[in-house]
Amino acid sequence: QTDRELVLGLIEACHEAIVIHADDLCELDRAIGDGDHGTNMRRGCEAVYLDRERLCSLPLPQAIETIGMTLVMSVGGASGPLYGTLLIEIGRRLGTRENEADFATILGEAVDAVARRGRAHAGDKTLLDVLYPVQTEMVRQSALINIAKRAEVSAQLTADMKAMRGRASFLGDRSIGHVDPGASSCALLTTAICRYLR
Ligand code: ADP
Ligand code: MG
Ligand code: MG
Repeated sequence: QTDRELVLGLIEACHEAIVIHADDLCELDRAIGDGDHGTNMRRGCEAVYLDRERLCSLPLPQAIETIGMTLVMSVGGASGPLYGTLLIEIGRRLGTRENEADFATILGEAVDAVARRGRAHAGDKTLLDVLYPVQTEMVRQSALINIAKRAEVSAQLTADMKAMRGRASFLGDRSIGHVDPGASSCALLTTAICRYLR
């Protein structure tokens, strides 16, 4: 598979997943935030999707980094800079590593960068609570189907957590019992990517 096909396929898979689930993501965000997570993510995915012909002409690392910058500029909410940081850091690392460092290591460093950016940790009820488990499965070289399953289960587990970062943290204990919208979008995207790569 060429970079071109891969980039196009991943853009289409992620765009489809977010468009289909945008309303669900807004509903999750209405419970513990301001109700716009689906709208924010859809805006970002639309911007990337509209730019797909240019993006798929770039080598994979630059395409990923450019997608990250598009998300930072277009998403608006807190999730934009966070997903943006993730992709920018992955893209830059993929592009500059001498020997092809394994992707799990690169993802781990990128997730740490997201955590620093949001001053958040594992267990704070954010998209990190999906990203860290996904990274762990990648270190274990788990099958794609199991990575996707772990992402879905991890998103559900955020319901038991108390939000420590972002708007949901304003609710304190009342955030408990609701799935975090960012964790949910992260699981949706992980599943879409894993399904595409199978
Ligand atoms: P906003 O809160 O600005 O409306 P979104 O609704 O698009 O932005 O995104 C909310 C999601 O962003 C949350 O569900 C959470 O997963 C994630 N999030 C918010 N703040 C942080 C943070 N400081 N660190 C990590 N993730 C965060
Ligand atoms: Mg919101
Ligand atoms: Mg908002």
